[in-house]
Amino acid sequence: MPVVYCKKCCEPSSRPDAQFTKEGVCLPCTYFEKFGEIDWESRQKELKEICDWGREHAKGPYDCIIGVSGGKDSHRQAFYVRDELKMRPLLVSVAYPPEQQTERGAANLANLINHGFDVHMVGPGPLTSKALMKHSFTKDCNLFKITELALYAAMPREAIAQGIPLMFLGENPALQYGGVNGSLSGDGNQQRKSHTLAGADINPLIESGFKRQNLFWYDYPSEEDFERGNLRIVYLGFYMHDFNEIMNTEFAINKGLQVREGIDADPAETGALNVAEALDDEFVHINQFLKCLKFGFGKVTQQVSSRIRVGQYTRDEAIELVRKYDGKCSDRYIKTLCRYLSISEDEFWEIAEDYRDPDLWQVNNHGEWELRYKIS
Ligand SMILES: [Zn+2]
Repeated sequence: MPVVYCKKCCEPSSRPDAQFTKEGVCLPCTYFEKFGEIDWESRQKELKEICDWGREHAKGPYDCIIGVSGGKDSHRQAFYVRDELKMRPLLVSVAYPPEQQTERGAANLANLINHGFDVHMVGPGPLTSKALMKHSFTKDCNLFKITELALYAAMPREAIAQGIPLMFLGENPALQYGGVNGSLSGDGNQQRKSHTLAGADINPLIESGFKRQNLFWYDYPSEEDFERGNLRIVYLGFYMHDFNEIMNTEFAINKGLQVREGIDADPAETGALNVAEALDDEFVHINQFLKCLKFGFGKVTQQVSSRIRVGQYTRDEAIELVRKYDGKCSDRYIKTLCRYLSISEDEFWEIAEDYRDPDLWQVNNHGEWELRYKIS
């Protein structure tokens, strides 16, 4: 089917779960159009009630939990919850294997700790993490499909174990990026139905030879565990009128966030525009590139679409950036990944090209790959 693009931003219909109105407008744009009509006061009231509920139901020293990578959204959430909402948060961070983690990422996490937060580090075994990444890449051409499950599972696991009733997430991804699954409100308890977690079942991994005892941190707690822990998941972004890329970046930099510099900040190398995003890992650029082969769009499409909505770019300016940078990824990152996973570059390209969707891509007159349905 031909790819169509949102009439207001650059969102393509090839995004899994994409939803468009009859007029050809994507779900995030539709949501954003109604942004001015939102009654933020009543949302704030609702959030205060949720916080009171959290304080009442806490069974230990912490009344809420926040998953942090140390990035801009982590900074914004942690400070907001502690200093504005006057809660006692435990921050949980799932560490990347040392070979994968950037120094910048470690420094940013240290920055949060230096600001006085309690941070509980979860470090899933590096050898299993690496094996899972390799498995996920060779099987689904996605580097993070399995390893990112730890980011989702560690928070509720820790919350239930520590008697913490309330778990804060940042933005509701359905409202930010589109997608028909999951809630469209501040309620995050349907997270297990999200695109990322649907089918997050570790049994196929065990059938593939992974040991159950090595997968504990990748196993999202069951609905029964959630009920037993009386755990409530809440999207903080839903209640804050200025929880967005621009504000969060500015806030975090003011608090000491280190951003990308030099060659690792060049969109021609990274395929991304924001130098304050994905600070703790460089393989993320490769995954966006692979996504582009499969679905015909990368990180820049998503970033410019958000910025069109807040009036930072016109659609024409955004399209130019998409054409120039979307799906770009330096060979340097790919070489590092191949060394990390102990695969040859030929193996990498064989798998990657195998996933290039021929309905989305064609070879042009110069013998180069190009999108069949370019945005215009
Ligand atoms: Zn749109």
